[in-house]
Amino acid sequence: MTDRYAVTGHPIGHSKSPQIHTEFARLTQQDMVYTAIEAPLGGFAPTVDRFREQGGRGLNVTLPFKLDACAYADERSEDAELAGAANCLQFEGGRCLARNYDGVGLVRDIVHNLGHALQGRRVLLMGAGGATRGTVLAILREDPALVWIANRTADKARELAHHFHGHGASSEHLLGGGYGDIGAQRFDVVINATSASLSEQAPDLPASAYAPGCLAYDMVYGQGLTAFLQQAQRHGAGRLADGLGMLVEQAAEAFDWWRGVRPPTAGLLASMQRLVI
Ligand code: NAP
Repeated sequence: MTDRYAVTGHPIGHSKSPQIHTEFARLTQQDMVYTAIEAPLGGFAPTVDRFREQGGRGLNVTLPFKLDACAYADERSEDAELAGAANCLQFEGGRCLARNYDGVGLVRDIVHNLGHALQGRRVLLMGAGGATRGTVLAILREDPALVWIANRTADKARELAHHFHGHGASSEHLLGGGYGDIGAQRFDVVINATSASLSEQAPDLPASAYAPGCLAYDMVYGQGLTAFLQQAQRHGAGRLADGLGMLVEQAAEAFDWWRGVRPPTAGLLASMQRLVI
């Protein structure tokens, strides 16, 4: 019988996951079907229960259900546990296993696809929502010199930095605060994990934060040259990228977990018009 997978969220019509996983299945000759399921707000668990009853094998989970997915699971990976959020579920022998591949996807895109090593680098991660929670650990595993979490609501960034201390980072290597606390520090990699780009705004970052030639990475995709990427370009960033590569790479990790084969991503990414300058 053909194995069933899906992505669930609310709304879900915009999701590129069915296109990505269908192409992965074709490339690796897997007998599977992947669809999109819109769960009603407040109706995550019954939607997942129904999918499992119908023989579903695994789910990707997107906004606003990543926290619900983590709580729903019987077992969680370290990334999901620490983030308190999961973007991938697998159903096995009556149990639900949860993982969070956002961080691995981001790191793979930056290090492997864009060729920017994070080891020994100074990284600025802007935002203190789900996207930051899901990616801090994977960034720390690359052994950067510093990860600075900056957020409009400064206390949320400080709390997050504190939350991740002891997990691959000492308090000198992981700091958090508001944009005004950054002072004259410069960063080799500046990652926008806020949703500011969706309202055509840029985080209130000092111009001096961009080290000459740095990488500016916006997790948002499909929005063209966002206000953040324009700001980065003005202030000396050498490389600009949107978050499409992160999306494709986290999908490849999920696919590998479910099917035991890692699909190639380069051809698909090239055909999806990601923004890299
Ligand atoms: P979230 O939990 O709602 O958090 C939003 C964050 O953005 C908060 O830290 C918020 O600051 C900040 N923010 C919102 N508007 C801002 C503005 N005008 N200026 C400065 N900061 C602002 O959202 P999320 O789940 O973390 O997602 C963030 C973004 O990442 C989304 O746009 C999403 O599409 C993207 N994302 C992409 C991928 C991918 O695969 N490429 C994966 C996950 C997420 P406050 O705390 O002060 O409100």
